[in-house]
Amino acid sequence: MFQRILIANRGEIALRVIRACRDLGIEVVAVYSEADRGAPWLQLADEAICIGPAPATESYLNISRIIAAAEVADVEAIHPGYGFLSENPHFAEICRSCNIEFIGPPVDAMRKLGNKNEARRLAREAKVPIVPGSDLIGSDAEALRVAREIGYPVLIKAAAGGGGRGMRIARNDISLQAALKQARAEAESAFKDGSVYLEKYLEQPRHVEVQILGDQKGEVVHLWERDCSTQRRHQKLIEESPAPNLPPQVREEICRAAVRLAKTAGYYNAGTCEFLVDKQGNFYFIEVNARIQVEHPVTELVTGIDLVREQIRIAAGYPLSFTQRQVVHRGVAIECRINAEDPYRGFAPSPGVVTRWQPPGGPGVRLDSHVVQGYRVPPNYDSLIAKLLVWQPTREEALAVMRRALREFIVEGIKTTIPFHREILNQSAFIEGQVDTTFVERFWLGGEAGPRDSKPAVAKK
Ligand code: ADP
Repeated sequence: MFQRILIANRGEIALRVIRACRDLGIEVVAVYSEADRGAPWLQLADEAICIGPAPATESYLNISRIIAAAEVADVEAIHPGYGFLSENPHFAEICRSCNIEFIGPPVDAMRKLGNKNEARRLAREAKVPIVPGSDLIGSDAEALRVAREIGYPVLIKAAAGGGGRGMRIARNDISLQAALKQARAEAESAFKDGSVYLEKYLEQPRHVEVQILGDQKGEVVHLWERDCSTQRRHQKLIEESPAPNLPPQVREEICRAAVRLAKTAGYYNAGTCEFLVDKQGNFYFIEVNARIQVEHPVTELVTGIDLVREQIRIAAGYPLSFTQRQVVHRGVAIECRINAEDPYRGFAPSPGVVTRWQPPGGPGVRLDSHVVQGYRVPPNYDSLIAKLLVWQPTREEALAVMRRALREFIVEGIKTTIPFHREILNQSAFIEGQVDTTFVERFWLGGEAGPRDSKPAVAKK
């Protein structure tokens, strides 16, 4: 096993990895930008090294500075967390060529899956259904032909895409031309790769994803699914497992498809296969996230498996410590993402000093957060400040405990998504598990029932 690991990340995921290392008796080296100097999680590391100024490009995204820190601190492995360099195959390759293990998948699998178009090709090879669509689009004329073939509405997606960037809907020939131009420009500036392809735009699908784990010996297991349909502008806000109302046969098939795809890609370590599920229960692969996910604790709560610990063990060359049959899914887990954002002002970022921090607790509650009272949320990075999770034997009980925890949770000084979650958990569509990916747009962002005038449905007893 490794003796010393560097964490190339910040915030709650840095703290999560520190905890896993401590549990395994591994020393931890943290890195930080000037914006994070004195941050609370750094005190829990054995060593903390400043890697540069606040902008991520000069610190958390700066490969040479991170490698230099790893060399100086003499670590054997780097955990990239999520975001930043976690899905950068070039970084993984450099780590390994410096004899530092990258705690993640093989470079080759990262390269293939990092390109959505390539990933679709792999899915086809693994006999995993994909959304009807095209290969990379050359000319506008080709796009027009394909769009008419698959039928409007269509979604233009960047091959190198992520975080919803380079994604545009087109509902007819005229909007297609403008959307193509915008998608290409956005992809070019975000990923330095303007290549795009088309997908049929599915109306009101659900987002269901499967957690997989594979070891370096070729064994791959799934740890069941998470439903992440509660999204705003394609960004997840609530995740849960199991996916409510998903027919058992569809659930089994999706999980098996994810394992097939991972094996076809020669994948190891933790990863997530994302799917869209339509009203008829047909599922379609959309992409693989080749890293640990923000919402991984949902799976930890229903399986009892520590995913970050497993990631480290796998990177150190150990075989999986359990078989597929030993993965037992129990009860229901729900996660609410608490962001430093104002849900009443279009989720505008709300950085600043947290003047009061009173977190919830008690039976069935888990809070993953790097925040303490007096902490200043910097404006430079992702707005996630806490992940509030609950576990209960049934969904009804899980909803009740989540409502109670959200009530207990008091944050002052900055705006957060806590009031948003309090409302959503009283919406009948959510209570009944009938949410699709357009739910937040319809119920919160100026749809049928705005946040202020909505009449919360009476919660089921
Ligand atoms: P990104 O990597 O940029 O986050 P994804 O491909 O993972 O993009 O898609 C993000 C979200 O966009 C999905 O969860 C879903 O809500 C929506 N989406 C993606 N593809 C489609 C599609 N073909 N039809 C309808 N919605 C889609």
